[in-house]
Amino acid sequence: MVRVGIGYDVHALVAGRKLVLGGVTIPHSKGLDGHSDADVLMHAVCDAILGALGEGDIGHFFPNTDPRWRGAPSRVFLEEAARQVASRQGRIVNVDSTLVAEAPRINPHIQEMKSRIAEALGVGPDRVGIKTTTNERMGFIGREEGIAAMAVAGVDLPA
Ligand code: MG
Repeated sequence: MVRVGIGYDVHALVAGRKLVLGGVTIPHSKGLDGHSDADVLMHAVCDAILGALGEGDIGHFFPNTDPRWRGAPSRVFLEEAARQVASRQGRIVNVDSTLVAEAPRINPHIQEMKSRIAEALGVGPDRVGIKTTTNERMGFIGREEGIAAMAVAGVDLPA
């Protein structure tokens, strides 16, 4: 039985932080603020997979009050989501995602981001979709105050 899940995340862009998207550090004047590395794309993908399982969200598994996750690479969150799938004898069918960012240009990094997400989930990169769009200069994303990501996941679980 294939189940689907949805994930959404947003983080603020601030000076003095690295910008990590899909596990790739991208040169930029600002980075995303957060307790972990604030990888908004990996967080959305993680929530999509957990949602397909009917599980709690990323904050349930990794509370941002827990010092263990301070500065943590978000890969560990995806690895845990994949473990949750495996523990149910399930299989990740695919994930698809959209990053909404006004800057910087993300397209040159998409293949590497797909590889990093696929590695963390233990699936082939052909099962990971990443699209990017701007917010047409509107709102907080358009003003480059933050970056948002949304994702869906299909997970095949034994009936
Ligand atoms: Mg987050």
